Amino acid sequence: MRQRIIAGNWKLNKTITEAIELVVLLKRENFGMNPPVVVVCPVFTAITEVSEQCAGSGIKVGGQNLYWEEKGAFTGEVSGSLLKDAGCEYVIIGHSERRQFFGETDDSVNLKVKSALTQTLLPIICCGEVLEEREGNLTNQILDRHIRGAFKGVSAEDAARTVIAYEPVWAIGTGKVATPEQAQDAHAFIRNILVELYSDEVASAVPILYGGSVKPENALEILKKPDVDGALVGGASLKAGDFAGIIRASSEAGA
Ligand code: PEP
Repeated sequence: MRQRIIAGNWKLNKTITEAIELVVLLKRENFGMNPPVVVVCPVFTAITEVSEQCAGSGIKVGGQNLYWEEKGAFTGEVSGSLLKDAGCEYVIIGHSERRQFFGETDDSVNLKVKSALTQTLLPIICCGEVLEEREGNLTNQILDRHIRGAFKGVSAEDAARTVIAYEPVWAIGTGKVATPEQAQDAHAFIRNILVELYSDEVASAVPILYGGSVKPENALEILKKPDVDGALVGGASLKAGDFAGIIRASSEAGA
């Protein structure tokens, strides 16, 4: 049985004090009878304090990005080993905002995935189409490119340790959520690529999260779909009550 995961991508939000406050509030929330793995991804500067605050609570911490070289003359970058050192277990890779604003490509995503796996960080690999691509019936083609690119040269053993997030770009931060059927179709398509690249066993081990305007009100219907194993949440992860509502929806959707 693969893990259910609800991950919060805090993006460029929250001072250290605000981040600690959010975790303190989150820890007081009820996560339901069947809680998923809960991950929060703060800005780099708050990771250490957030990790300390999460210790013993079961809440895991992730980075929002990493650089594939471990150390050296790479001004401004942060490596996987440094994320681990600060308390991370997960790292988001290839988010559409990184592809759109910071020039990330399938090749850089691939290098980052391999580096995360080498550092025993669990990569949350993002993929998804923009609106014109969906309207042009190119969704599957884009997903195929993103997934094959991200997993190039990754062994089956390592692939089984990854997490994928399907995030249609038109749904991120727009309030326009994919229908449960659109999410299910994309997730099943992605899982099938993993069958082709690896095996049924690997494909059924990898959690595939949906991301894009997930809120407590719409989470349950999406999370009930058989190939949707959780959510990557932006805006709604910034409020403890909303994030906990999504976590409880996952709990209700099943173990
Ligand atoms: C995200 O940025 O990964 C995301 C899904 O954002 P939002 O939930 O705000 O759409």
